[in-house]
Amino acid sequence: MNYLIKNAVATIEPQLLDTVEAVSHSMENAAKDIRISKGIIVEMGLGLPLHPNEVLVNASDCVVYPGLVNTHHHLAQSVLKGIPAGLNSDLGHWLAEVPFRFWPHIDPQLMYDAAILGLAELLRSGATTCCDHHYLYHASVTPEIEDALWQAASDIGMRLVLCRGGATATGSHKGLQKAAITPETISQMLNRLDDTRSRYHQAGPNGMRRLVVAPTSLIHSTKAEDLKTLAAYARNYDLKMHSHLLEVDFDEQQCRNLYGKSAVAYAQGCDWLGEDVWFAHLVKASSQDINLLAKSGTSISHCPTSNCRLGSGIAPVVAMREAGMNITLGVDGSASSESASMIQELNLAWLLHRSGHGANATRATQVAQWGTQNAAKLLGLDAIGALSVGKAADLVLFDISHFRYWGMHSKSVAPIIAGEPVSVKTCFINGKLVIDDGNIKGINLADRQTSLLQGLARLKQKVGDF
Ligand SMILES: [Zn+2]
Repeated sequence: MNYLIKNAVATIEPQLLDTVEAVSHSMENAAKDIRISKGIIVEMGLGLPLHPNEVLVNASDCVVYPGLVNTHHHLAQSVLKGIPAGLNSDLGHWLAEVPFRFWPHIDPQLMYDAAILGLAELLRSGATTCCDHHYLYHASVTPEIEDALWQAASDIGMRLVLCRGGATATGSHKGLQKAAITPETISQMLNRLDDTRSRYHQAGPNGMRRLVVAPTSLIHSTKAEDLKTLAAYARNYDLKMHSHLLEVDFDEQQCRNLYGKSAVAYAQGCDWLGEDVWFAHLVKASSQDINLLAKSGTSISHCPTSNCRLGSGIAPVVAMREAGMNITLGVDGSASSESASMIQELNLAWLLHRSGHGANATRATQVAQWGTQNAAKLLGLDAIGALSVGKAADLVLFDISHFRYWGMHSKSVAPIIAGEPVSVKTCFINGKLVIDDGNIKGINLADRQTSLLQGLARLKQKVGDF
């Protein structure tokens, strides 16, 4: 199917993201029409004529963005929102009381429904790509849980980057101890990585299914020798690498105690820094850490909502940006970030750092770049993350006709500076229409709700009251 998007209020083109000023001026000069043929943006401009074989998409109440790219999530947590025991807990207690209490008991059907729910929430907020840090692995795991995740992404039509988590050591991880599961051996993990890679991984600039090597916690889930083995495996197959790091002080304390060095220096010693690596959080990164991360080309997935929710702190992304680090954004799992909204992360990232660094600290255009281009670059998904001719049609139309946008004079960045709720009228992923007139096409949400409630009843039988 070919499409012509007509008369957009504004389109977020790369030149707009490259400027930090003159949002209105850039908007006036931006293309209003986008022609899509065979899944590719083939023409952009003003007054483009509708061709006979094209479907018209009226964008006269919309601003058009590249699809947002979420670089850190835990889709399994979509059914663990607001668990009372973890509502006022810090990370360590929350890990033990919430995700690790429940995840060994999540069955494939509930995993599927949780993934559909989480992906639908992301789609609704403007995301087209989800990096899911999936860690439901143990010594005797079977492939069905992971398969459910791939199936959900395929059914809803969303691009999934599976950051394959798991542990090869129980170590100091309170969560793993609480879950009382046996971690995989390194050879089990490698064999299963091989299996997933051969069945699902798509290389290339627009892969819809990607595999990333991603032990759950760099410090607490595995040993130095295993990290080196995993890094060598990833680089041998040109896979990216991801993990949690420095969300709280515990990582640094453990590294100093166990290895006599900083957590980032430990990562470097294990071959876990580089342009193919990104870490979630890095809240506690020091200026020396930032220098090392920047010099090596390592990226951050900044998750401001989750960091606020768990009281972890504010990641020093202003200093990171000044040091030249590549900054991307993630929503983190819904058990610690109940909003599951990429627009909320953009909005909060825009606001939060101003509170400590002044009104000039973050620009809406910059956070738009964090949520699109920077993430696409990190993932090697060069066909997405920007609206320009030759890129994949991977874009969202935010409807700004609602009265909450009346009186708005910076319409191109309105979804970012006004924040939630946003309304996605239309969404294309890899050229395919996934949201049409506000409706997600690939799923029946009412059916999924019924199934999800049944799954939660099964979970309750295993773990008791939530
Ligand atoms: Zn996380």
